[in-house]
Amino acid sequence: MEMKTCCVCGQQSNCHSIKSTCSNNVLDYCVNCIRQGYENYDELVNYGFTFDTFNNKFREVVVIPTLRYYNKTKEQFNADVESRKETKYGQQA
Ligand SMILES: [Zn+2]
Repeated sequence: MEMKTCCVCGQQSNCHSIKSTCSNNVLDYCVNCIRQGYENYDELVNYGFTFDTFNNKFREVVVIPTLRYYNKTKEQFNADVESRKETKYGQQA
C-alpha cells in the first residue's frame, strides 16, 4: 500500500491499486472504500447497465452502497447511464 488519492472519496490515503469491478482499469481505492464496496461512480456509469439490469449480488454489494455514497437515486443513475451511452455511441435514433 502507498499514499495515493482514492478514486472514490478523493482522500490521500493508503490505497490498494486494484482492478475496477466494472472494467479492466486499475484504480486506487482506500481501505475504507474497499470495505464499504464503493466503486468509482464514472466506472459504474461506464459499465453501461441500468440499475435493474445488474445481477442481485453485484447490486447489493456494489451498486447500492456506491449510489448511497454519491447521494444518487437509482433514477439519476439510470439517466446518467443513458446519457453516457448516447455520448459513447452517438445520438439515439
Ligand atoms: Zn476512499
